[in-house]
Amino acid sequence: MSGVLPAWTTDEGTARATTLFEQTFGAAPLGVWAAPGRVNLIGEHTDYNAGLCLPIALEHRTFVAVSPRADRLVRLVSAQEQSTVREVRLGDVAPGTVEGWPAYVVGVAWALEQAGHSVVGFDVAVDSCVPYGAGLSSSAALESAVAVALDDLAGLGLGGDDAGRAALAAACVRAENEIAGAPTGGMDQSTSLRATTGNAVLLDFTPGLDPVDSARHVPFDLADAGLALLVVDTRAPHALVDGQYAARRDACERAARTLGVTSLREIADMLGRSESPADELPAVLAALDDDVRPRARHVVTEIGRVGTFVGLLDAGDVTEVGPVMDASHASLREDYEVSCPELDLAVTAAREAGALGARMTGGGFGGSAIALVRATDIAAVQDAVLAAFADAGYTPPDLLVAVPAAPAGRAG
Ligand code: ADP
Ligand code: MG
Repeated sequence: MSGVLPAWTTDEGTARATTLFEQTFGAAPLGVWAAPGRVNLIGEHTDYNAGLCLPIALEHRTFVAVSPRADRLVRLVSAQEQSTVREVRLGDVAPGTVEGWPAYVVGVAWALEQAGHSVVGFDVAVDSCVPYGAGLSSSAALESAVAVALDDLAGLGLGGDDAGRAALAAACVRAENEIAGAPTGGMDQSTSLRATTGNAVLLDFTPGLDPVDSARHVPFDLADAGLALLVVDTRAPHALVDGQYAARRDACERAARTLGVTSLREIADMLGRSESPADELPAVLAALDDDVRPRARHVVTEIGRVGTFVGLLDAGDVTEVGPVMDASHASLREDYEVSCPELDLAVTAAREAGALGARMTGGGFGGSAIALVRATDIAAVQDAVLAAFADAGYTPPDLLVAVPAAPAGRAG
């Protein structure tokens, strides 16, 4: 049976990455760095629309054991990739030149160099307990772990404050977009580098915003309220590097152009100032083509839901956020069309077993769902989800209970 996926301790992750490094490269690494996966509470597909989202960092982390080299070679090995050693020369890294997973690693070095920092070659061994391709952002965990490692090795000092971490996150986004070729927004990397223990982080993707204003830490203490956040990794296939994600981005850009705004955020802000946004929305989106209108409607209403969710947290009403999560899922399923039968089943089964609210999280087309449950109901909801998947003949899902954990940093 699949079950609850435990996170590794710092010692365990450090030991695993160190052992792989020693077995592969025949010497001890200079150090080990780690970065978390993330789960988004609300605000999906909003980051590339200059919008808002509210993720937490997970206790599940990717560990990288690293030593610098005197030359410009990068040698890479990952326990998740058959432990085959790959080699890439930093001088050869450019969009379209790096095949497969090493792109997420050398892309970060490339992006730091593009930002004017000098980076040397390095040997790196990767091991991770972040579920792979589960919508929990193993890709950003890998990039962010490499980013803080290179920051330390090159003495850049960026990891020491939030503004520097925002710069590291920007390098990771460039790595993923331009070298790995995945057109994702910035939520994943910002969370892995900038979230803090015990808090959700409200991220604002308005371009050019000062780092001080682009991240606000919002206390998210579920245990205090007798609640827990259950994550269901549906294990349904999930691939962001396909045309669907790019097609959604394209639809949003077309919608903004038609409406004469630089981003759909402007529409969300305008409606946010209105007395009755729901009544005004149809007229505001009327000029859009029928295929684009629902996409824009999702983004605009979702940005509004982030505001509602944060307002409830600020007011100490975390028990009230369930309906906001439910509305987000309906919007992602019907308007944005990025859900899938496994995600819908996880959400429905969790709700029927007593969850206060549930939604898909991450890019969609597979990946994970989250459910807000009473702490006393965790086992019942888990059992109900497992039973529903068994009845449907789906691959058994993996489950984890998420608490807001620490950002990327040195592990050993
Ligand atoms: P997600 O970020 O939701 O887990 P993505 O498709 O964005 O899914 O990223 C998964 C990809 O990131 C993998 O296919 C691989 O290329 C790379 N990756 C993530 N973690 C690791 C790892 N531990 N070792 C090697 N590559 C990794
Ligand atoms: Mg990813």
